[in-house]
Amino acid sequence: MTQTNAVKRHKNILYWDDERSLGNSLIVTLVYGKQFSADVGTGEHVRGFDTVKDALREVRTAVDCDCSNCKKHLIS
Ligand SMILES: [Zn+2]
Repeated sequence: MTQTNAVKRHKNILYWDDERSLGNSLIVTLVYGKQFSADVGTGEHVRGFDTVKDALREVRTAVDCDCSNCKKHLIS
């Protein structure tokens, strides 16, 4: 797995799995306490993207999440 420094550093990213070379997606997992903004209320924390540009755009606009799973991890 390879990562660029810019991607590694972003505070909203927990996991960054680029599986495009395998025919899959670029799969981004947000840190606990964040969710993808396009789906506020659904608690979507993992999403597949086709390009790094698309992924980073969504990562940057991630919003706060207080779902039970995030709360559990943020407290402990
Ligand atoms: Zn959450």
